[in-house]
Amino acid sequence: MSDLETFRAETRAWLEANCPESMRGSYSPDKACWGGKKWVFKNPDQKLWLDRMADRGWTVPTWPKEYGGGGLSKDENEILSEEMKRIKAFPPHENFGISMLGPALLKFGTHEQKERFLKPIARGEIRWCQGYSEPGSGSDLASIKTKAEDQGDHWLVNGQKVWTSYADQADWIFCLTRTDSSGPKHQGITFMLFSMENEGVSTKPIKLISGRSPFCETFLDDVKVPKGDEIVGQIGEGWRVATYLLTHEREMISGMFGGGATRFVGQIAAQEMGTNEKGEIADPMLRARAAQADLDGWSFMALMRATKDRAEAGASLGAESSALKYYGTEINKRRYELMMDIGGTDELEWETDRNNDGDRARSWLRTRANSIEGGTSEIQLNIISKRILELPS
Ligand SMILES: Cc1cc2nc3c(=O)[nH]c(=O)nc-3n(C[C@H](O)[C@H](O)[C@H](O)COP(=O)(O)OP(=O)(O)OC[C@H]3O[C@@H](n4cnc5c(N)ncnc54)[C@H](O)[C@@H]3O)c2cc1C
Repeated sequence: MSDLETFRAETRAWLEANCPESMRGSYSPDKACWGGKKWVFKNPDQKLWLDRMADRGWTVPTWPKEYGGGGLSKDENEILSEEMKRIKAFPPHENFGISMLGPALLKFGTHEQKERFLKPIARGEIRWCQGYSEPGSGSDLASIKTKAEDQGDHWLVNGQKVWTSYADQADWIFCLTRTDSSGPKHQGITFMLFSMENEGVSTKPIKLISGRSPFCETFLDDVKVPKGDEIVGQIGEGWRVATYLLTHEREMISGMFGGGATRFVGQIAAQEMGTNEKGEIADPMLRARAAQADLDGWSFMALMRATKDRAEAGASLGAESSALKYYGTEINKRRYELMMDIGGTDELEWETDRNNDGDRARSWLRTRANSIEGGTSEIQLNIISKRILELPS
């Protein structure tokens, strides 16, 4: 057997033996494990699965072993994800530390920062939130005003963030602060890390149209950030770190929403609307729309896979992540529109067991935010036209 075949056989056997039965099956966001000090495990298996995967470095399979990763090659990582899909294993852990901060620390962090933060992220011991947006500084992110003043042994941070996802659940924040306002707006921004337990940090949840409340206003009033490992990159040069992190955020969002579909719309339509004697969805118009949605989804997944391969081979994605983010989120919105059409008015009912607490309707409403979070679709189109198509501003 080749090395990769041996790796596949061992991985398959290990997953079969170690992935608890209750951590397999159809996955939805309410089954996620986000980790962190405040996290309440949904059951003992969720913790067991996280710990077992973290012990092998497989919560972050491609990170270096010394920082809590599995040190897997691109091909091994692909095999691991195929084998997890084969038994429908749940992701052991989701965390903005994994999908956003980790890659930025690996690129820009000091050895001390990597030692201090990456291992706890990999083990699910620290949950992060992203302090980028402010009232008046969303699309125009570089105009942020949250101020960090040098006070000798600490920074004094004052300002307000908004739309901070899970800020009320997070242990730490990666936060854009302004340390110098004398030059152009992209300069003088510093990428800072600090604990949400610091005095002066407070959060207020904001409710979404779906009835859920995943994000907050975050107030920073005379927050003292001790000096040490708090700054990623150089003082005043945080924009580079911030934009690098955004490319990872956009990939994550496109992967989650664009390629995250676990069932064909065609299957759902056939099950809910019935089929004709040939086993086809009876309504030809619906059949065509379902086929289009599934083809779009699968084409997108193929594109994601090809892009991932190129990224892992060392290509820099840059503006391409904007194209993925734009297309992935747009097709996800279309997919949910169609699923709501299939369900009809019954699907609008929520807070009942019949509709699984309105799961589909809430998810449909949640998709409206996909083309806003991580940078709006209009902003992605601007980036594509300038950086990929090289059109004039
Ligand atoms: C579910 C969700 C989770 C989020 N989580 C976080 C988080 O954890 N941390 C965080 O920091 N932020 C978070 N955000 C905020 C998100 O990044 C911003 O909402 C987004 O960048 C848009 O900024 P804004 O809301 O200020 O809208 P605005 O920038 O005010 O935009 C309003 C409208 O104007 C359009 N527009 C603005 N400028 C241009 C332009 N130059 N050209 C064309 N059109 C333009 C936009 O496309 C949009 O339609 C989250 C948002 C959502 C919806």
